[in-house]
Amino acid sequence: MEEDGEMKDTIIFYPSPGIGHLISMVELGKRFLQLNPPFSITILITQASFNTGSTSPYIQAVQSYFPSISFHQLPPISFPLHSSSPHHEALIFHLLRLNNPLVHQFLLPIASSIRSLIFDFFCHPVLDLTAPLHIPSYCFYTSPASTLAIFLYTPTIHRLNSASFKDLGDTLFHCPGVPPVPASDMPLPIQDREDDAYHDFLSTARAFPRASGIIINTFESLEPRAVEALRSGACIPDGRTPPVYCIGPLTAEAEKREGGADCLEWLDSQPSRSVVFLCFGSLGVLSERQLKEIAVGLERSGQRFLWVVRSPPSEDKSRRFLAPPEPDLVALLPEGFLERTKGRGLVVKSWAPQVDVLSHDSVGGFVTHCGWNSVLEALCAGVPMVAWPLYAEQRQNRLVMVKEMRLALPVEEGQDGWVTAEEVERRVRELTESEEGKGLRERTVEMKEEAMAAMTESGSSRVALAELAQLWSCVKN
Ligand code: UDP
Repeated sequence: MEEDGEMKDTIIFYPSPGIGHLISMVELGKRFLQLNPPFSITILITQASFNTGSTSPYIQAVQSYFPSISFHQLPPISFPLHSSSPHHEALIFHLLRLNNPLVHQFLLPIASSIRSLIFDFFCHPVLDLTAPLHIPSYCFYTSPASTLAIFLYTPTIHRLNSASFKDLGDTLFHCPGVPPVPASDMPLPIQDREDDAYHDFLSTARAFPRASGIIINTFESLEPRAVEALRSGACIPDGRTPPVYCIGPLTAEAEKREGGADCLEWLDSQPSRSVVFLCFGSLGVLSERQLKEIAVGLERSGQRFLWVVRSPPSEDKSRRFLAPPEPDLVALLPEGFLERTKGRGLVVKSWAPQVDVLSHDSVGGFVTHCGWNSVLEALCAGVPMVAWPLYAEQRQNRLVMVKEMRLALPVEEGQDGWVTAEEVERRVRELTESEEGKGLRERTVEMKEEAMAAMTESGSSRVALAELAQLWSCVKN
C-alpha cells in the first residue's frame, strides 16, 4: 500500500481459506489492476490449522508475477477440531468468526484509505466491522448465480417448511430462476435443521443483503434466468437485493508447465481430444472401494484417461480435516490395473496442473466434482463434462450444468452416493463416443465463445468490472 512513502488508497480482498476461493479473488484483483485504477489491492490470508488445500506455492507464484497485488497473512488461529457438526464448513464458519478481531486490528489504522472491501461467502461476519467503519463492502460469490438464487431463497424455504431437507427425499423446491431443486440436492451441511452448520448457512443468507453489492464469478448469458431472478428481488421476497455484478468467467492462468510437466508430456503423445480427465477438486476424496470401482469402469470403457488420485479419507475421525498423505497407487487400485492400462491411461498422485491439462488439445472430456472454478476452467477450454458432485453446493451445480446450461452429463449415484463401474463406463463412453456427447461439446464451445465475448472491451462482464472500478475510484471514505 505504500508508494513513494505515501499511503495509496486500497481495496481489501478477504477470501475464505482454500485455493478454490483464493484463485478467483486473485483473478478479480488482476482484472481490476488492468483497468489502472487509483488504488492498490491487498489480499488478507487466513491461516487455518485444518486442511483447506495448499495455497503457499500459488501465493508465491502470484507475488513473483504480480507484485502489485500484496498479501497480508493474518496471525494463525488454532482451536480444537472437534465440532458438533460433522461438516468442514462448520469449522470454516467458526474460524472466520474468530478471525474478526484480527481483521479489525488490521483494518482500523488504515480505514480511511480503504475504498472498499470484498469478502467471500464464509467471511460475512466482516460486515459487523466494516459497517461502523463506513467501508463499502461487496460480497464476491465464487459459485454460479443459480446456486446464489437458491441460497438466498433458503430463509424463505425455512419459513414455509418445518422439516429437514434430509427427511424430504426428492421433494422439489421451486426457487426463482432455476430448475426445481430436489431436497436431496441441497448442500449436505444444510440437510439437517439440528446441525449448527444449517444455522450458519441461514445467517449467511440473511447477511448477504447487507452488502453494498454482490459480485458473481459468472457471465450474463450463461445463466440469464438466475441473474434476472436475483436482480428482480424474487429470491429475497421480504428484503432488499443489493446490485448484482456478473464479472466472470475469472479462471486461473495456465501454469505454463512449471509443475506437473510429466502428465503434460504424456498428453503431448496422445491423439487430439481423445483423453478423459478425471479430477475432484482441491479437497475431493473417495473411498478405496470407490477408487477401485472407477478403475474398473475406466478399464472397461477402453477410453484414454488421465486420472488424479488422492488418498481416501482417514478412518480416524480426529484426522478427517487434515491433509491426506500421498496415495499408494499399487495398494489402492485393482491388481495389475496400472500395467494393463499403461499407454492409454495415466494416474497422477494428488494434484495435476488442471488449467494446463484442460487446455491441452488431447483432452476431450472432464469428469469433475463440479467445483465452480473447475466448471469455468472446462468451459473456457471448450471441454464437455461428466458431473460427479461431492461436497458444498456441487449437487446444485450439477443440476444447473445439466438442466440449465447443458454443459454436462450427470453421474447417477446409488442411495449412499455410490457410483458403479457400469455408470463410470457408460458416462465416459457417452461423453466421448455418442451423439449426445458431440452435442455437449458443440454447446460447450458455443458457451466458450460467449464467455470470451463477455470479457471483451464492450462485453457484459468487462462493463460490470469497469462500473465497479469507477464506483470505487470515486469513493472517499
Ligand atoms: N486444481 C488443480 N489441480 C488439482 C485439483 C484442483 O489445479 O489436481 C485446481 C483447479 O484447477 C481449480 C481449483 O484447484 O482452480 C479447485 O477449485 P474448485 O472450485 O473447482 O473446487 P474446490 O477445490 O474449491 O472444491
